[in-house]
Amino acid sequence: MPATVDLNRVEHMARVLLEKFCDFLVTTIQKRHHGSGDACWRLCGANGANHFHIFWSCRVLRTYWEGIHEHIQNIFGVNIPFKCETMYFGDTLFDNWNINDQKILGILLAASKKSITRKWLKVDPPTINEWIDIVHEIYIMEKLSFSLRVQKAKFYRIWTKWAEYVKPVR
Ligand SMILES: [Zn+2]
Repeated sequence: MPATVDLNRVEHMARVLLEKFCDFLVTTIQKRHHGSGDACWRLCGANGANHFHIFWSCRVLRTYWEGIHEHIQNIFGVNIPFKCETMYFGDTLFDNWNINDQKILGILLAASKKSITRKWLKVDPPTINEWIDIVHEIYIMEKLSFSLRVQKAKFYRIWTKWAEYVKPVR
């Protein structure tokens, strides 16, 4: 009898495993960094700083995540709940979006995490400008790779919303 695969369950398990791995990594690195204890390296006062804390709930990150949230709402012209599920995981909420918007949203959210890792073990949080820089790096790489594959039209379908949005500041 073939086993039925519940994809939601598989996805959930993968997420849980990834979080556990990240917790392990964060704790190990922090312990090495501080010699002892697991206080948050952003000096927010929290102890037991795990993956969830380092990437999402740390109060030092609050302004950063609020900024990302506001920009994403502006880019797509929608209201998005300010929750970890949506901002961090890019929740199922976006399943009914068109494929280009889903793609660019995925990139923007990945960049928002990447800028946190670039400030690893630093007291100060990442900034919106650093986020925009990372998205721009991805933009350049994608532009190059799409032009090599003669898929410029597809590239612009995906990136136009972002390119138009940052035009005044870039
Ligand atoms: Zn913290």
